[in-house]
Amino acid sequence: MYVLRGGRVADAAGTREADVAVADGEIVAVGDPEAVDDAVEAHDDGEPPEVDADGKVVAPGLIDAHVHAMMDGRPDVSTAVSDSDYTASYRTASNLEAAVEAGVTTVRDLGSRETLALDAAEAVAAGDIDGPRVLACGRNVIMTGGHGNWFGREADGPAEVRKAAREQLKAGADVLKCMATGGVLTEGAVTGAPELTPEELAAFTDAAAPTDTPTAAHAHGEEGIKNAVEAGISSIEHGTFMDREAAEMMAERGTYWVPTASALRGIVEHGVEAGIPEDAVAKAEDAANRFDDAWDHALDAGVPIAMGTDAGTPFNFFEDIPQELAHMVEYGLSPERALEAATVNAADLLGLDDVGRVEEGYQADLVVLDADPTEDVEAWQEPEAVFARGERVA
Ligand SMILES: [Zn+2]
Repeated sequence: MYVLRGGRVADAAGTREADVAVADGEIVAVGDPEAVDDAVEAHDDGEPPEVDADGKVVAPGLIDAHVHAMMDGRPDVSTAVSDSDYTASYRTASNLEAAVEAGVTTVRDLGSRETLALDAAEAVAAGDIDGPRVLACGRNVIMTGGHGNWFGREADGPAEVRKAAREQLKAGADVLKCMATGGVLTEGAVTGAPELTPEELAAFTDAAAPTDTPTAAHAHGEEGIKNAVEAGISSIEHGTFMDREAAEMMAERGTYWVPTASALRGIVEHGVEAGIPEDAVAKAEDAANRFDDAWDHALDAGVPIAMGTDAGTPFNFFEDIPQELAHMVEYGLSPERALEAATVNAADLLGLDDVGRVEEGYQADLVVLDADPTEDVEAWQEPEAVFARGERVA
């Protein structure tokens, strides 16, 4: 047991002065010193150590709803195909360590080879490697030759898509991920073009329904976005060419948008000179122009937003994940809403009911910051201390 003493707490409930007591990986009390002392006494642990939070702000650890733990931000992702499974595993471990040290205490892996990310989740839970809590989809379900086909599970027709989805559930997937359109990083794939058909998408979400497993669709083009929303998908990933109609459909159904601004920026800001394939740069530049409009539509329509970065794509590093909040603020979210996107909204999307708040009974996933992140969104980028499931990791 220990107590974070003398600071302020900032989460989706607002900012207030409060001490925080942690025991066995869980937040056991939040409030004024007397109330926290009472809780400490009830625990009968003697005098627990204190972490001086005077002048600091204690906030929930961040949740990244879209990462690729096996990818390392290299300019040309296709060069990772020839890496051995062992190399990919070591890289995953180092990425996860970088994420948690940056204050990211939960990640959702939306596509790795075989069971790599599912196994990483177990390795973190067992304490074999340092990292955030990992939820994972196993393999992406994609059409034959579709986006990400070098590590996805290719499937065609509703019956095969249903089987592919069930294979991931059998392997222990926490979420199912499919490709509803082409993408930026697969040569030859047309970014906005629909891939899985409406019938295939319906089979995909239907496979997830009995266990209430969240579903995620990679979708850039408006037609693919609408196909996925119609099929009842839980989240649209990227949503780059979202139009007004798509935004309104998403707002009405409560479909989350995971914008992954960091992914586009990593490609556009570094370009061909940095070794990113020309085809990917051209597609990303085109997408970046449309992305501004997507934000306008989403904000006007009231689309719920969860934070995700697509970490692992070119120049999109795990240690930089907290920059995504600053990007979201540049696109028009207030710092308070950026906090919500990266905590309570992402937790809701992932189906987690005990992370994302500094509240009694929640997991002790905490960051100690120099400033209030609801006033200064950059405060997320330099955490003074990070606690993951109660353990101090940075
Ligand atoms: Zn991705």
